[in-house]
Amino acid sequence: MQFRDLSRQYEALKPQIDEAMTRVAASARFISGPEVKELEQALARYVGVKHCVTCANGTDTITIAMRVWGIGKGDAVFVPDFTFFSSGECPADEGATPIYVDVDPRTYNLDAVKLEAAVRKVQAEGKYKARAVVAVDLFGLPADYPAIRAVCEKYGLLLLEDAAQGFGGSVDGRRTCSFGDISTTSFFPAKPLGCYGDGGAIFTDSDEWADLIRSICVHGKDTSNPNDPNAKYNNIRLGKNSRLDTLQAAILLPKFKAFTDYELADVNRVAAWYTEGLKDSALILPTVPEGFTSSWAQYTVQIPENVDRKAVQASLKAAGIPSMVYYMKPMHLQGAFEGTDSAVADCPVTERLCATVLSLPLDPYKTREDVELVVSELKKVL
Ligand SMILES: *Cc1c(COP(=O)(O)O)cnc(C)c1O
Repeated sequence: MQFRDLSRQYEALKPQIDEAMTRVAASARFISGPEVKELEQALARYVGVKHCVTCANGTDTITIAMRVWGIGKGDAVFVPDFTFFSSGECPADEGATPIYVDVDPRTYNLDAVKLEAAVRKVQAEGKYKARAVVAVDLFGLPADYPAIRAVCEKYGLLLLEDAAQGFGGSVDGRRTCSFGDISTTSFFPAKPLGCYGDGGAIFTDSDEWADLIRSICVHGKDTSNPNDPNAKYNNIRLGKNSRLDTLQAAILLPKFKAFTDYELADVNRVAAWYTEGLKDSALILPTVPEGFTSSWAQYTVQIPENVDRKAVQASLKAAGIPSMVYYMKPMHLQGAFEGTDSAVADCPVTERLCATVLSLPLDPYKTREDVELVVSELKKVL
């Protein structure tokens, strides 16, 4: 069994994907071909946001958002302690100081009460200016945006939604990638909507920020005349080279259709099989709060603290079942932050999760038999 089986998906979509790849190769429009704009328009419509700008990867999308907001040295950016490295790496790389905040033990997402306490502490100390929150839709579940947005408004903070794992989720019918002042996602192959390499997208309702994003993505080009092919040689600020290749956009179009037509529903069905099969076990199962839907980037359980996780993984592996630990280390304990103010954090929930979480094989193409095998092996080991 594969942890996330991308080959089954390719088999299902082979004619459309092969056609798309051949079409782009024949057109020779490898950069900024028509598929890129078509994809951006389709994604913006689906998410319900005015602008979508695609970029080279999900990490760049967060960095670019920080640049648009002029976040850098002397600024504090609040980030969940339990996330993939990029969420804190990008603000730090711009010179800002990530302040790591603990998460909710049931949803694994940023705890809004602890967020408010962290903001007040930074403001009282006066060393950094509290500027922004990076809220992460971890494992596909949207963060608690009603509560997080209220904290941002109360303290005048900008909100970035890091939906790298969250594309396709929703809160009360409103889709992810629409909750931030700027929202970002990744098309890394293993994400809910993945391409065949690196890719990402930025979403915003702001015309001004969308212009700035388009400029930063292409070497700080002048965007005042979008139809001028020479504008990229008139550089009015420093930028990056961060574009989504035409080939990736062309691959994403049929994959996005499959995602909305059936994959999102199918992966929810697979997750529900796990929840049903494991509900009487000793495991703590992932929670989806009332009104929320998940796009299930991962199905992540917590094993009892007295059980050896390595031994569980080894037994599963012996039965042909791969499993992963997302994540082993809290952000504030990562070596990159050693000796900085980012290393100072009070995050006991994250520390416990890092010691107990286990992610199980999951993708929309898993069968009931696949899930039953994992469930029965897990119960046997426990
Ligand atoms: C994957 C991921 C990113 C970075 O995306 P890349 O496309 O791999 O650069 C950022 N944040 C989170 C939460 C992620 O899971």
